[in-house]
Amino acid sequence: MSLPAPVRVVVAGGGTAGWIAAMALSRQLGRLVEVTLVESAEIGTIGVGESTIPTARSFHELLRIDEHAFMAATQATFKLGISFEDWGDIGDRYFHTFGVMGMSTWVAEFQHFWLEARSRGAVEPIGAYSLEHEAAVQGRFAKVADTPLNYAYHLDSGLYARFLRQIAETEGARRVEGKIARVEQDGETGDVTALVLETGERLEGDLFIDCTGFRGLLIEQTLKAGFEDWTHWLPTNAAAVTQTAHVADAVPYTRAIAHEAGWRWRIPLQHRVGNGFVFCSQFMSDDEARAGLLASVEGEILTEPRVIRYTAGKRRAVWKNNVIAMGLSSGFIEPLESTSIHLFMSAVTRLIQQFPFGPISPEHRERYNRAADAEIDGVRDFVVLHYNLTEREDSPFWRRMRAMDIPDSLAARLTLFGESAEAWQAAGELFRIDSWVQVMLGQRLTPRRWHRVAALLSDERLRQSLDDLRARIVPAVRELPTHQQFLDGHFA
Ligand SMILES: Cc1cc2nc3c(=O)[nH]c(=O)nc-3n(C[C@H](O)[C@H](O)[C@H](O)COP(=O)(O)OP(=O)(O)OC[C@H]3O[C@@H](n4cnc5c(N)ncnc54)[C@H](O)[C@@H]3O)c2cc1C
Repeated sequence: MSLPAPVRVVVAGGGTAGWIAAMALSRQLGRLVEVTLVESAEIGTIGVGESTIPTARSFHELLRIDEHAFMAATQATFKLGISFEDWGDIGDRYFHTFGVMGMSTWVAEFQHFWLEARSRGAVEPIGAYSLEHEAAVQGRFAKVADTPLNYAYHLDSGLYARFLRQIAETEGARRVEGKIARVEQDGETGDVTALVLETGERLEGDLFIDCTGFRGLLIEQTLKAGFEDWTHWLPTNAAAVTQTAHVADAVPYTRAIAHEAGWRWRIPLQHRVGNGFVFCSQFMSDDEARAGLLASVEGEILTEPRVIRYTAGKRRAVWKNNVIAMGLSSGFIEPLESTSIHLFMSAVTRLIQQFPFGPISPEHRERYNRAADAEIDGVRDFVVLHYNLTEREDSPFWRRMRAMDIPDSLAARLTLFGESAEAWQAAGELFRIDSWVQVMLGQRLTPRRWHRVAALLSDERLRQSLDDLRARIVPAVRELPTHQQFLDGHFA
């Protein structure tokens, strides 16, 4: 049977988002699409975005990307979660790991049993009942069939874009180097019909993916989709970034260390360390941020520190006419929970599933946009949680964060958890119950009550259940090599 003419997809932008889109569409839809990507070396990419969440693994699996080849090509390391330091208050440390804590029943999740045990006397911290937590704390990692760890990656974003490009081109995607000078639209519908480069070359298409970064060349500058600004909830708006040489073994987690006007990250890769100093310019100058960054890094500085600016928020419609925004052009939530790469992997997965092989109806766009909206709103609430739920009062920034109004959806969550230890993952929502629980407890929200089913257990039974969990986790973690040993064994 002959196939219909391929849908001509033009991807504008060759950062991580652009190459993910081009790679996934060409690999998955094959001859059904004809993918062209245009990027400009003169403009370049944002050059950050190196910490991921476990959905990156499933995305790679869906697209048949070999893990070893990917890790070798991108100098990647394994990530079991994030170490939050000085967030609830100065001196605090908790982990948000990708693991499951303890064992839940269909009646109640583990936190209810743990809170009951805690009310009856000494009990280990809740993280002690999670394999990933214990492995992270001890800096251990391995891929063991009996005790599989749920993990993500730290990767070099420049190398990742190159790796994706190679696959996309092998699958038939065409790359064009050049600067888009003009966007042509249909006079009646407003649909984009072609991108015209400075050289005069025209790239015609049926569907356009806007991956041009914060500028949103098609979705905003051309189609005026609008932007919902979330600065009032997420006021950090800049990051000073630099790369340094390794001076210690790579740990299997991202470090997120709060400071007086934001936080800083440390991301260990195989060949170097990525460092960033996120701040709110209302409370800190660029010079202060640069100085803070340089004072906090370890090891030789490999790249001159530079400051990147951003605004938190989302595009009012990520799919408008025949343009779909992915990556930074679709919206941005600061990198505290490493969610941006996930959001565009999810976006392209949704697009492949709902791909328009014919005329695009408003209902088609609406369905796609509703899912994208719900997804980013959930991420927003989760990130706002870290800032609002704090006892820090040591600087004007933290006093503002503590006192701010928060989205109603988040307020409801905090009330319910505070009153009854109830946490949930709504349909289509990214963060699991274990994530919400780890962060809410980590940020010092202690529930007043919990499910009474736990009260039915005798002291002996409750203690035994918790001891059984520890008896499985402790030896399993002890057997693991350090993360660095595991990397050396596979990538040296
Ligand atoms: C400080 C910071 C830290 C971050 N950390 C993380 C993290 O840890 N984890 C995570 O998941 N995400 C993170 N992100 C987000 C992540 O960096 C981005 O989501 C990711 O890099 C994708 O960017 P992009 O491809 O949308 O845009 P960009 O990298 O900006 O690429 C834009 C592309 O468009 C092209 N372009 C633009 N205009 C034109 C034109 N006129 N003609 C031709 N080409 C054009 C450019 O050349 C470039 O190729 C972070 C972001 C910031 C700001």
